[in-house]
Amino acid sequence: MSASTASSTQHHVDLTESRAAHNYHPLPVVLAHGEGAWVTDVDGNRYLDCLAGYSALNFGHGHPQLIAAAETQLRKLTLTSRAFYNDQLGEFAAELGDLVGKEVILPMNTGAEAVETALKVARRWGHEVKGIPAERGQIIVMDGNFHGRTTTIVSFSTDEEARAGFGPFTPGFVVVPYGDAEALEAAINDETIAVLVEPIQGEGGVVIPPAGFLGRVRELCTQHNMLFIADEIQSGLARTGRTLAVEHENVVPDIVVLGKALGGGILPVSAIAANHDVLDVITPGSHGSTFGGNPLAAAVGREVVAMLGTGEFQDAASRLGARLTERLNGLGDAVVTVRSRGLWAGLDLDPNVMSGRDLSVALMHRGVLVKDTHGSTVRIAPPLVASESDIDLIADSISESLADAIR
Ligand SMILES: *Cc1c(COP(=O)(O)O)cnc(C)c1O
Repeated sequence: MSASTASSTQHHVDLTESRAAHNYHPLPVVLAHGEGAWVTDVDGNRYLDCLAGYSALNFGHGHPQLIAAAETQLRKLTLTSRAFYNDQLGEFAAELGDLVGKEVILPMNTGAEAVETALKVARRWGHEVKGIPAERGQIIVMDGNFHGRTTTIVSFSTDEEARAGFGPFTPGFVVVPYGDAEALEAAINDETIAVLVEPIQGEGGVVIPPAGFLGRVRELCTQHNMLFIADEIQSGLARTGRTLAVEHENVVPDIVVLGKALGGGILPVSAIAANHDVLDVITPGSHGSTFGGNPLAAAVGREVVAMLGTGEFQDAASRLGARLTERLNGLGDAVVTVRSRGLWAGLDLDPNVMSGRDLSVALMHRGVLVKDTHGSTVRIAPPLVASESDIDLIADSISESLADAIR
């Protein structure tokens, strides 16, 4: 590393830390280029991207089909607002709805906005369809959830760091342990309108509920006339080997919340998908977004849907994920637990050997970028365009980093 390039890394770190709010604690790597599963820093060092933008980059960096779709639309029309129609949104809505088996979608931009949309729809449905009085109605959520960062969403976060100082909080939420169907059933009353769950908790560390839990959520929602809202923002769109993670349990939610990979890693695109009986509670003037459903977002989203329609990314997630899981399970005692589904794994480390942050830094020096969560957990979620040798590189690099720490 030459002195001038080293100072370039430092320049970007210092400028970011001094002029952008300190709401993250990034690894000290400054990225300048990406292609497929690999990124390059300002000094020309290459890294395998095993975070993939928290699964926003399921199709990798700069996928040629997505870039082409974006470029074509960029030159035609990028924004109309919903005051007028555009020639992309209707097509996108129909194609995305068909992909996930729903009649209607409501497009937004970020994941948090889509979750907010689902909550608003559920509340209005609770009043207008279920007949819960105004200012009443409860939504059951799960311990350890992550649904975004708005004031309402952090109101029912169980992570103190995400909540501290942001009150007063939005009422109307009840928290039960994740994966505990009995606790869920016990929390239901006449004023419960919906259950909001992540089919797999991504930020929680790739936490998978017990088999049958999601099916039980479905049964209880049907039995008690409540909406089952599945937040598939991180688990959906091929990451787990299926288009939606709920498909592993053959479960059909009432509202599917999508984001992240829906924008192809190019721009924020989110949506909720549901049938008319639910989404028709939204009427002109009751909800909206300046950028939601813009033609550029819709064109990229349409290409994402077309790519998912072939099944090749779902297959790649299953195939590469099986290889990754097998390798991770052979890493020895320093890895206490491996949880995985598709190409998505959470490793709990023995804290006496290494923290998650220490392993992330060690892997960065070996050319592999990962992100730690909750102290001793590391998540691995490379783009689904990774190769088999990329998967082997991840396992080899973790193995070498752990061996160095034990030595
Ligand atoms: C990332 C994420 C969100 C929030 O998405 P943003 O685009 O960051 O607002 C919501 N739910 C889940 C499950 C997520 O992983």
